Formats: sequence, structure tokens, C-alpha cells
Amino acid sequence: MNDYLVKAYAFDGMVRIYGAATTNLVEQARIYQGTWPAATAALGRTLTASVIMGAMYKGDISLTVRIDGNGPIGGIVVTANAVGEVRGYVGNPEVHASTDSGKLAVGYVVGKDGFMNVTKDLKIRDIFTSSSALQTGEIGDDFAYYFVMSEQIPSSVGLGVLVNDDNSVLAAGGFILQLMPGALGKPLLVDKIEANIKAMKPVSELIRNGYTPEMIIEEITQGDHTIVETMPVKYACDCGREKFARGLKSLGKKELDEMIMDGKTIETVCHFCNKKYQFSLDDLKQLSLESQSVDQENPKNDEKDQEHDN
Ligand code: ZN
Repeated sequence: MNDYLVKAYAFDGMVRIYGAATTNLVEQARIYQGTWPAATAALGRTLTASVIMGAMYKGDISLTVRIDGNGPIGGIVVTANAVGEVRGYVGNPEVHASTDSGKLAVGYVVGKDGFMNVTKDLKIRDIFTSSSALQTGEIGDDFAYYFVMSEQIPSSVGLGVLVNDDNSVLAAGGFILQLMPGALGKPLLVDKIEANIKAMKPVSELIRNGYTPEMIIEEITQGDHTIVETMPVKYACDCGREKFARGLKSLGKKELDEMIMDGKTIETVCHFCNKKYQFSLDDLKQLSLESQSVDQENPKNDEKDQEHDN
């Protein structure tokens, strides 16, 4: 099955539901990052929820989700846009733990003491960041809590990632259900939705059994929905030499001149896709010249790109 996402309205438009199949993009992330199974699950759940969250927007927007718990994974960073592209990495990919029942111990490797931050870059100079406390580190609960606390949208989030014996990804996917404002005055409807979700098997079990996003949505609504949009989703990195050049430039002339004095060439590596970019001494000299004029024009420089890509 190719990766894709489905958006539906249910119960007379009172509820919107997104379902996603993300096996290939999570496997791509695992290959790039070299994650061990519990880390693959933590990153995969975050990639799945983030690519759905991106699809809630239109136009040229990017959002960055950072999950910083106190577990051994050492943080998760994922960026997504409105056209189904997502990428991410974790602080320490080589972590693994299982629960007593043999499940991947996502909550443990993420750690529940910490925060989830979401930064929305609307590309019109406005950048919004909101933050909420982690609930369990299981990712699904943490996203649901974020939607309620930061966006005032009651939500239910189900995410699943299953890993094969050889550590590759067997299946990944999930759903996000959100109550529209009209649903809040309808306690019977809310009860019914809660009962449907409670009666459902966990998402990881559904995807193990080959459920498509449409079938997951069907399971939640018992058929009372209309699909309004289907779009492909994928792992995609938009890094480029120019971004890393900006990052180097933002170090400032003094630091660049020290590198030039050392006579070393610089190799930068993209966290998201492992692509390498080389900068020769001549490149560094040129950047040093440019950074001199940048320092004068704009002492603050472009911190955002540096943080994301270096
Ligand atoms: Zn990249």
C-alpha cells in the first residue's frame, strides 16, 4: 500500500477525521536515521500525527513539532507541510525497550516529563509557537492533549507503528478525530463517538490486520461519514546547499575566519536525510566576506535555518 491520507467529515459534519497510512515514510525515516525499534515507533508515531496535522492547513505553511521528554531518546523533531511532506529525526536513534507484554516501550524511551512544542511558520513573517506538557510520552495522548490545551479542539489521536524482526517497519498509520464547535452542545453524540473509539481495537492491531485509512475511519464512525479528500504523503527533505551556507554565515565572520585559518574544509550533514554538503576554503572565504555585510545589515541573522539543519 502506498502512503496516503484521507480526510472525512462524520456525524452531520460535527466531526472531522483524518486517517493515514504511513508505513513507507516511517521506513524511510528508519533507514535515514538508523533508529532501533522503540525509537522507530516514537519517531513514526510523531511523523504520522505531524503529517496529518500539516494536512489541516492550506498553502505555504510548515510546522515543526518538538517532543522533549526526559527519556533516553533525547527528543524528537519533525517538520511537516500542507502538501503531505514530512521529515524528522531523534536525538539518540539507538534506543530500544519493550514493555512486560512485549510491546515497544514508546512512553519509556520518550519520557513523560517534558513538553511538546509546535511551531507554525505561516511564511508571512508570522511564526507561532505553542507548548503543552507531555502526558504519557506515548505520542498519541500527547498530541490529543496539545490539541485540547493549545488549540481548544477536543481530539482523539490513535497512532501505531509495528516493527519486523529485522527492525524494518511492518506497518504504520493512525487517525486524528476532532470535534467541530457544533458537536460541543451534543453530549449524546460525544458519548457515542467515545463509545465507538473505546470499542475499537488499538490502531497498531488494525494496521497489523491490513486496515486502510478508510477502514479505520469506517470503524470509528460505523459508516456515518463522507470522505472529502485523499492525498499522497511521503518523507521529503527540502534541504539544500544554500540553507547550510546561510547556517555557516550565521556563525559570524570571526568564527568563519578561524575555520579558514585552520585550513580545513567543512562538511555539513542534514539531520533529516543525511545528505552531505562540502564547503571548500574558497567557499568559506566567500561566506566570510558575505557574513561581514550580513553582520552589518542584520546582526540577528537567520537562527531558524541553522537550528533546523545544522
Ligand atoms: Zn535533508
